[in-house]
Amino acid sequence: MIRGTIARISGPVVIARSMKGSRMYDVVRVGEAELNGEIIRLEGDESVIQVYEDTTGLTIGEKVENTGLPLSVELGPGLLSSIYDGVQRPLPVLAEKSGDFISKGISVPGLDRGRKWPFTPLAREGDLVSGGDLLGTVPEYQLLHRILVPPRVKGKIREIHAGDFTVEEAVCILEDGTGISLMHHWPVRKGRPYTKKLDPSVPLLTGQRIFDSFFPLAKGGTAMIPGGFGTGKTVSEQTLAKWADTQVVVYIGCGERGNEMTDVLTEFPELTDPRSGLPLIERTIMIANTSNMPVAAREASIYTGVTIAEYYRDMGYDVSLMADSTSRWGEALREVSGRLEEMPGEEGYPAYLSTRLSAFYERSGRVVCLGNGDRQGSVTIIGAVSPPGGDFSEPITQSTLRIAGTFWALDTNLAYRRHFPSVNWIKSYSLYLDSVCDWYVAHVTRDWREIRDQAMLLLQKEVELQEIVQLVGPDALPDSEKVILEITRMIREDFLQQSAYSETDSFCPLDKQFWMLKVILTYFNLMVAAMEKGVSLRSLLSVPVKPEISRMKEQLDPEANIRLIDTLMKQVGDLEVETCSSTAL
Ligand code: ADP
Ligand code: MG
Repeated sequence: MIRGTIARISGPVVIARSMKGSRMYDVVRVGEAELNGEIIRLEGDESVIQVYEDTTGLTIGEKVENTGLPLSVELGPGLLSSIYDGVQRPLPVLAEKSGDFISKGISVPGLDRGRKWPFTPLAREGDLVSGGDLLGTVPEYQLLHRILVPPRVKGKIREIHAGDFTVEEAVCILEDGTGISLMHHWPVRKGRPYTKKLDPSVPLLTGQRIFDSFFPLAKGGTAMIPGGFGTGKTVSEQTLAKWADTQVVVYIGCGERGNEMTDVLTEFPELTDPRSGLPLIERTIMIANTSNMPVAAREASIYTGVTIAEYYRDMGYDVSLMADSTSRWGEALREVSGRLEEMPGEEGYPAYLSTRLSAFYERSGRVVCLGNGDRQGSVTIIGAVSPPGGDFSEPITQSTLRIAGTFWALDTNLAYRRHFPSVNWIKSYSLYLDSVCDWYVAHVTRDWREIRDQAMLLLQKEVELQEIVQLVGPDALPDSEKVILEITRMIREDFLQQSAYSETDSFCPLDKQFWMLKVILTYFNLMVAAMEKGVSLRSLLSVPVKPEISRMKEQLDPEANIRLIDTLMKQVGDLEVETCSSTAL
């Protein structure tokens, strides 16, 4: 084992001497207290180490031991419902061992060593197996945890047993003596292998109208949610965790305010999975960075999280990874970089900020999984960004912008006006619009894109018209433009606004979304046609069915909204007759 000594200490960064032979990202134990750390730079026989624990009390000259292993996570049954710190130490166990303040040098394994899991083999003795092949299953809450041959392992099965096993006991032994247990390790900074990447052609359905209908995210895609303080990033991430159609959620929290993470830690385990009625935490892995935790662990947390996400993807599941907020992660990177006395880039962030961010986001994807059985799985990454003062020109927002496929821009003005979700429809975009279009056509309706584009066009027109109104007042507009302002108000209030707290409306099925928008646009098209024939805007706006349009959100009978179209046609049609007969008189 390589053993060196501490030469310098600067906050979370320690420089160790006599470390010749060390490699980048080796895990080391620092000092007599054996604090966990990771080598992040090599200079001759010196190693620069970021330490995942509080370094106060360390002194120069203390020993440093290199484990020779990269920073890894434990992957196996028992991950679901766990709450970890950034280097996969279970927080409840840590708290039990050391009280509220995490004391140093405590190694706690990520997975419970004592618990036994019932294993049902599916492979047989004599089978030739290699990385990713299915060996058997273990029930983990509602999920079938598939036990796969770890990547890179290969051989003929000599023994495989049914029964109750701890995560360390071998359930299967290969001819060469290799034992495979329910758990294996994987280095967090290395993406797990898969057979083939698939196109982002399947939408991640969220039940949120502004996302699904206007700016869709694909399964295996990436989205960013930038927004100033209080614009709804955390609410959005939690709403997505609840409703997005994925089987597993990895939730990485980096507290914004002092005790925000504590709130999340107490609130999240109480959330109910609205689909199953069971606790949401049963299909969630939480990684929490509270403000009293060392910054280096925060830097590692996103890699820990994405590795766990990939592990469930490999079983053939759809996984969503929420990171709230990546700005706090970026600040950790900046602090460590500062300690390293690296040349600072923009706003003090290191020059490799973008590379690191893309290394994280690039681990998303929908794939054909490694191994037999033709499984497909996906990791979708949704990162919140909290630019200081809500100013999107800062480095983290700008770097993420170049990587993320969907940009859901939260808007302080909308949040102030209580328009939620406060997603700005003019600034936001989705690069998946074209790639998911076929799916929408096949599963919802042929004219999804047409309707969506018409609504967007009207909203863009609204911005121009509002500028005119600001200058000359609303009365100066002709009816043909006033009608646009009427209809865009309906799109905004009756369609886009969606409360995360509404019993009936926090989730909106896709076909309901389509019909809601279809009703509003039908109304618009009918009004335009009728006005051309001389019907007045005022009478068109007072058709008796209009209030029902604003109640569509709460309408649970899907047919009722569709019927509105007929009612609208009839009522607008009647107006025409009425107006014509009155002119005839
Ligand atoms: P941020 O994380 O951006 O600082 P939060 O997610 O904590 O902001 O949201 C702040 C407040 O805004 C919430 O407490 C809630 O009252 C309101 N809010 C945000 N999003 C929604 C939503 N979709 N529906 C209803 N209220 C919302
Ligand atoms: Mg927040």
